[in-house]
Amino acid sequence: MRTRKTYFAVGAGLALVLVMLFTTSTGREAQFLLGGGLVNLGFRMQDHLERYDFEHSEDITPDEIWEEVKRQNALASSVRSAFPRTPRHPLVAIAVCMDGRLDTSEMVGDTRTYYYVLRSAGSVLSTREQEMLELAVQNGVKLVVWTRHTDCAAENVAATPALREQFPALASAVDEREARFEEFLARPGIASRIAAGELAVKVVDVDTRTDRIEVHEER
Ligand SMILES: [Zn+2]
Repeated sequence: MRTRKTYFAVGAGLALVLVMLFTTSTGREAQFLLGGGLVNLGFRMQDHLERYDFEHSEDITPDEIWEEVKRQNALASSVRSAFPRTPRHPLVAIAVCMDGRLDTSEMVGDTRTYYYVLRSAGSVLSTREQEMLELAVQNGVKLVVWTRHTDCAAENVAATPALREQFPALASAVDEREARFEEFLARPGIASRIAAGELAVKVVDVDTRTDRIEVHEER
């Protein structure tokens, strides 16, 4: 009898915890943190597995790497088709260098793809990228985060004479990066929304090692 009462109490307690997780704001916050914890648990479980790692190895060919990319995509996409994620319309657009060490989910502590991600060499906004960002703003984006990061290979090219000679277009793109950003801010569709308080633009520096962002400038 006593055992049955104990089971009932434990069951009722668990049910109460579940109800609180899904109905209270504290519960939703706990779910968000727990989700982040589980994602990090996944990183811990995968990161040390060299068999699945595209390490700089001398004896792996481009074709073998491509086979591995296709195999991993087949696995990941089959999981996603079985467990589709909630579609959302992003309110944030973030422009990031194409450096593979930068993880935009980690930058915002969120795995829900709640933002447009625009990746380019050195975060340079050419006219094409400016138009794409303005299109995102037109479609509802209210915050644009423009990032630069430490230990940037594109910046290194611009600062090294021998590399400038080898990659002249990249070097000059980095040279005119700030001017291109100002050009984006001056676009009528962007400037008018900033003036009306409908759009905010932040310039941030990213620590490549930790993905921590420091606000450099706010518009
Ligand atoms: Zn970079």
